[in-house]
Amino acid sequence: VQTLSQAGIIAPMNDTIQNPFPSARTFNELPLSPGLLSTLQQLGYLTMTPIQAESLPITLAGNDLIAQAKTGSGKTAAFALPLLTRLNPRRFAIQAMVLCPTRELADQVTQEIRRLARSEDNIKILTLCGGSTMRPQIASLEHGAHIVVGTPGRIMDHLDRNTLELSALNTLVLDEADRMLDMGFYDSLAYVVKHCPKDRQTLMFSATYPDGVMRLARQFMRQPQQVKLEEQH
Ligand code: ADP
Ligand code: MG
Repeated sequence: VQTLSQAGIIAPMNDTIQNPFPSARTFNELPLSPGLLSTLQQLGYLTMTPIQAESLPITLAGNDLIAQAKTGSGKTAAFALPLLTRLNPRRFAIQAMVLCPTRELADQVTQEIRRLARSEDNIKILTLCGGSTMRPQIASLEHGAHIVVGTPGRIMDHLDRNTLELSALNTLVLDEADRMLDMGFYDSLAYVVKHCPKDRQTLMFSATYPDGVMRLARQFMRQPQQVKLEEQH
C-alpha cells in the first residue's frame, strides 16, 4: 500500500494515514455493524478478498481511496460496506451515490448493495441510467431514496433538471473510473462531482491510472490513500 504522494503522483500530504487494522483478514475484525456482519456470514463471505482487506480499514476510517484491482476481486463490497456503515436508514435522503460506466454494471452494483443491505428493512436504492425514460425515474426520485447508482450522463441530466437532490450525500463512488473516461464521461463526471457536497468521502476504483484518472483524483479527492494489488499468478 502506497499513497499517491509517496509515488510522486500527487502533492504530498501533511500526514500519511496508517491502516489501523493491518492484520485483519476476516470481516469481524473490522468496525462493522452486527447486521452487516451477520449478512456477510449468511452470504458465505468468510474471509475478505485482498482488495477488501487492504481498503476497508482505510475507508471505514473515513479516508478517500483510489483502488486498483482486477475484475472479480470483490470491489463492490469494498465500497458498499463503508457506504452502508455510514448510512442512516431513518434519514430518507440520498446519502451515497455510485457512478458506473454502463447500465449492466450499474444493475450489478445495485444487486450487490441490495444483498449486503438486507439486514436493514427499508433501504431504498435507485438505479438511474440512460436508455430508460426520464419520467418514471423522476417519479421514483420524488418518492425518495437512500442510495443512487447510475451512469454519469443520466445523473447529470437529473442534476440539470433539479430532479436529483444531493445535499445529504456523504459518500461518492466512481466505479471503473478509467472505463468511464474511455467512454468520454470526463465532463459529465466533473459536472456531477461539482454538485456533490464538499464534505464527503470519495472512493475511486480503476483498473488503470491514465492522466484523466489522476486529474479526477487531484481535483476531487482529499488526501486519497492508494491501494494497488499486483496480479496474482
Ligand atoms: P469486481 O467489482 O471487483 O469485479 P464484485 O464486487 O462483482 O467484483 O465481486 C465478484 C464476486 O465475488 C461476486 O459474486 C461477489 O458476491 C463475490 N464476493 C465478493 N466479496 C466476497 C468475499 N469476501 N467472499 C466471498 N465472495 C465474495
Ligand atoms: Mg465491479
